[in-house]
Amino acid sequence: MVCETLKYVKGLFILLLGVFKVIPINMPKIGEEEVQAVLETVSKGPLTNALGQGPKVLEFERDYAKFAGVKHAVAVNNGTAALNAALLAAGVAGGDEVIVPSFTFVATAEAVVFAGAKVVFADIDPETFTISPDDVEQVISSKTRAILPVDLYGYCADMKALREIAKKHDLALIEDAAQAHGATYLGKPAGFFADAACWSLYASKNITTGEGGVITTDDDKIEEKLRLIRNHGEKTKYTSVLMGNNYRMPEIEAAIGIVQLKKLPSFVAKRRQNAQQLTKILQKSQRLKLPTETELNQHSWYLYTVKLVNGTEEERNLILKELKQKEIGAEAYYINPVNTMEFYRKNFNSRKLPETEKAAKQVFSLPVHPNVTSEQIDYIGKTLLTLLQ
Ligand SMILES: *Cc1c(COP(=O)(O)O)cnc(C)c1O
Repeated sequence: MVCETLKYVKGLFILLLGVFKVIPINMPKIGEEEVQAVLETVSKGPLTNALGQGPKVLEFERDYAKFAGVKHAVAVNNGTAALNAALLAAGVAGGDEVIVPSFTFVATAEAVVFAGAKVVFADIDPETFTISPDDVEQVISSKTRAILPVDLYGYCADMKALREIAKKHDLALIEDAAQAHGATYLGKPAGFFADAACWSLYASKNITTGEGGVITTDDDKIEEKLRLIRNHGEKTKYTSVLMGNNYRMPEIEAAIGIVQLKKLPSFVAKRRQNAQQLTKILQKSQRLKLPTETELNQHSWYLYTVKLVNGTEEERNLILKELKQKEIGAEAYYINPVNTMEFYRKNFNSRKLPETEKAAKQVFSLPVHPNVTSEQIDYIGKTLLTLLQ
């Protein structure tokens, strides 16, 4: 019965997609295995565990740590919680400053505010769109406690340079790897060179549990603290030893995550294939700076993001509008740098970030997720080329 209903909903979804035909910028790829894992977990239980450590969560954590090439993974209920817990576990507290890029999703900065610390924005490297190590050095003060780089679009931040800065100034290095499942840096999985890396399993990401998050770390002390923070600071029930929250991942989500993680390599391979096909078409245009990768620094291809060279914001927005009219779900990430948003503008006195400002006006992303077919990639590429003429 449940299975029939699920099939019906899935059928309806595919039908609706056919009617509207828009190729979305990202969408989850859920198969029969995930449906079975959910059914099994719902019928057998448990649905959750009082300390957040049910059998499916523990299994997912073991798999995830192995995938990330580190000792520990701690599963939580979303990527924002992962960031907040990691900052707290690394010792960030009231009065501290944390350096973040402004060219990111707002959650990166939000997690710093919820840890009680002050957000300090640094500019980006215009080549990679990730935080500029040189600019990070410009804003370090006696209050700086951590650096929080973002692997934007699924391309890792310059972790080697950032690690050197962190070492020199005795700072924690926490990586926002929410978009980087499957990316590598110097041949290692994203997150490997950070004290802790934070991942999101939101429905748009390379793998998903609907909502969900994970923190990976090699540091035993950070791991121990993360487990406490995830569950109200409780080691045993009703004895709280430090300030925490309810960041527990439900068992159903972990059951989906176990299956999705196994499929990640095939998802990323299809993304890469789509990206390479798109690059072949788009390199005929002089107007676009295209994303690249190397053998050692591999993209997760979460977003295939191009820059309109010497383009204005109006020109970029017009292209987006025209692509949408042609059923291509292109989007600009991110149109508003976080330091320009009301709360952050009022509370954190940011200096000018010229490269961030420029990128926010010139970039846009095209769909390359595993549900996009080779024919659709051809259509996306050729449509965009025509618009640029
Ligand atoms: C998605 C995302 C987050 C937040 O993850 P949620 O699971 O949605 O809370 C944080 N940072 C970046 C860069 C993201 O893309």
